[in-house]
Amino acid sequence: MPSTPADLARQTIAQNERFLVVSHLRPDGDAVGSVLGLGLALQAAGKDVLMVLEDGVPKSYRHLTGSEQIVRKADGRDRCTIVTDCSDQSRVGSVIPEDAQPVLNIDHHNTNLNFAAINVVDSDAAATCQMLAVLLPAWGLPISREVAEALLTGIITDTIGFRVASTSPAVLRTAADLFEHGADLPTLYAKALLRRSYEAVRYWGAGLSALKLENRLLWTRLTLEDRRAVNYPGRDDADLVNILQTVEDADVFVVFIEQNDGTVKVSWRARPGFDVSQIALHFGGGGHKPAAGASIRGSLDVVIQKVLTATRPILR
Ligand code: 5GP
Ligand code: MN
Repeated sequence: MPSTPADLARQTIAQNERFLVVSHLRPDGDAVGSVLGLGLALQAAGKDVLMVLEDGVPKSYRHLTGSEQIVRKADGRDRCTIVTDCSDQSRVGSVIPEDAQPVLNIDHHNTNLNFAAINVVDSDAAATCQMLAVLLPAWGLPISREVAEALLTGIITDTIGFRVASTSPAVLRTAADLFEHGADLPTLYAKALLRRSYEAVRYWGAGLSALKLENRLLWTRLTLEDRRAVNYPGRDDADLVNILQTVEDADVFVVFIEQNDGTVKVSWRARPGFDVSQIALHFGGGGHKPAAGASIRGSLDVVIQKVLTATRPILR
C-alpha cells in the first residue's frame, strides 16, 4: 500500500533529531497552539526543537506553558522544518528563506498550496490543533497536559468557542479527550476568548462608527489614525470582524485594516453557503469558505474599492 502523507510525516519525525516548528504572521490561537503542541510533544520525545513565530506570542496566549520558548527568529542551524496552520509559505514571514522548501506542512485551509515536501492537509478539520490531537498519538508522541492545553486553545479559538459551522461531534470528542488529559476547558476558554483590553474595545468603536451595510454586505475599516487615537498596540482588527458577524441583516462581512507598510489587511467572514476563500486567494491570501484573509498592497481607499467590487458578486 502506498504511504499516506501522515505515514511519511511519522517516518520523517522518527528519522530527524533537530526541528524548526513555525506558523503564520499575526498568530492566532491555532498558530500558537499548533507550534507549541507539536513543539512540546517533539521535545518530550527527546528532540531538539526551535519554535518560531516571527510576530511573537500575543499576550492572550502567554499563559500557555512553554510559550516563553517561542522565539521570533531562526537560529541558522540545519533543522527539519515543519510549518503549521499556513496555506502558503509566504504566511510564515521570513523565517524560512523563499527558496528553501519546508519538509512538512500540516494545515486545514481549503486554499492550501501543498508547498512542502510532505503535505498533511485536511480541509474538513476545524483547526490544525484538531488534526494534531489525532496525529501526535499516531506518531507515537504522547499528549501531556501542556500539549493538551496548547491544542485545546487552538480548537477553542478557531471554532470561536465551538460555535462556527466546522464544529462537529469529532471536534467535541477531541476537546473532551484534551480536557481529560488535563486541559481545563473553562479556564482556557475564558483566557482565549473572554478577555480583551479597554483599548481594543475603544478601537472597535472607531470601526463600528464607520459601518456600512449594502445589500447584505456589511463592512468597515480601521485606520492607522484609529489605532493611534485609542492607543491600540496591535495591527489587527481586535476581532471586530467576529462581532460584525452577529449582525443578522448581512451574509458577508469585511473589515479593512490599514497597515504602515503600504498594505491593507482584509478579513472576510461569510454565512454557510457563501465562499469567501476564493476571493481571498484571488488577492494573494487564503483561508476557509466562511473565514478568509489577505494582505493587499495599495492605499486604503483603493483596496476597499477593489475588494468590494470583487466581493459583491457572491451575494447575487
Ligand atoms: P483572519 O481574517 O482572522 O485574519 O483570518 C481568517 C482566515 O484566513 C484564517 O484561517 C487565516 O489563516 C486566513 N488568512 C488570513 N490572512 C491570510 C493571508 O494573508 N494569507 C493566507 N493564505 N491566509 C490568510
Ligand atoms: Mn487554523
